Amino acid sequence: MMNVLVAGGAGYIGGIVSQLLIEAGHRVTVFDNLSKGHREAVPEAAAFVRGDLAHPEDIAAAMRQARPDAVLHFAGLTEAGESMQQPARYFRANVSNTLNLLEACVNAGVGRFVFSSTAAIFAANDALISESSPISPANCYGETKLMVEKMLKWFHAIHGLRYAALRYFNACGAVGPRGEAHDPETHLIPLTLRAALGLRPDIAIFGTDYPTPDGTCVRDYIHVADLGSAHLKALDYLDTHDTITCNLGNGAGYSVREVIDAAIEVTGKDIAIRETARRPGDAPRLVAASDLARRELGWVPRITQLPDIIGDAWTWMRAHPRGYQP
Ligand code: UDP
Repeated sequence: MMNVLVAGGAGYIGGIVSQLLIEAGHRVTVFDNLSKGHREAVPEAAAFVRGDLAHPEDIAAAMRQARPDAVLHFAGLTEAGESMQQPARYFRANVSNTLNLLEACVNAGVGRFVFSSTAAIFAANDALISESSPISPANCYGETKLMVEKMLKWFHAIHGLRYAALRYFNACGAVGPRGEAHDPETHLIPLTLRAALGLRPDIAIFGTDYPTPDGTCVRDYIHVADLGSAHLKALDYLDTHDTITCNLGNGAGYSVREVIDAAIEVTGKDIAIRETARRPGDAPRLVAASDLARRELGWVPRITQLPDIIGDAWTWMRAHPRGYQP
């Protein structure tokens, strides 16, 4: 049993991981400013501290309350497209606020840190992307995550902070009462399902002239339950290892068009498609080789078929058409 502070534990992935941590017997304190997260996503059995990573005194108060052995850090801005319009916001939220959290971890003697990194640090690659593939973010969001990976390296070297940097490919799906609810929503699967529900007229395809088989971008869609299990394994891994930086994906690439087709199949609804220009900052293809996570963490993704992943998202969306709003 560990005391775990979960920064961003009211968000999509953070809420689900908080629940898994509780089920595994850990004592969880969620720290979140609720700017993007939802109080309803925080498990009932977790303590909740409302605070902001921009304010070191808020973090210090949370540390005093949680007395964490480990910190999991999900708090941050997550949208590649938006980061290309508002870079300062992304650097402040994702880099400067994470630095506050890292400093607080060192001050409080926290031993382990698990960080949500991203596939967006990679240059697009025709092959599967391994940890040694070329790193070259196509957008500001990816750059902010890469900067934190670099900070972690030095905090380990200098302060001995043990860490796992987990590079998520495209998180999707839902687990029980928790699912994806961003406002505004920008992600492909929830937007497509909103169109299926009739909550929007259509789904836009951002660019049909990419160097991919059907001209639309290819991504690796990974179920949030599988991302969740990787966090628990990473936390255990840091019992006996100093650091790990690894990709988390299924290794299967699906184009935007294939995702929409699968959603039409799963929902049985007609979904109107509108082809538009490219969205700045999108890499053509990001698909993971996750051998390192499988080998080192013993991680095995369980829900790997796109129809099952979309099916879980669809079940959640039909039950929560307005997200967490009543
Ligand atoms: N996308 C799209 N239409 C939308 C939203 C997304 O065509 O309304 C595309 C986007 O350009 C990217 C892929 O879907 O190629 C996945 O985008 P998302 O924002 O879900 O995740 P990202 O890969 O940016 O993290």
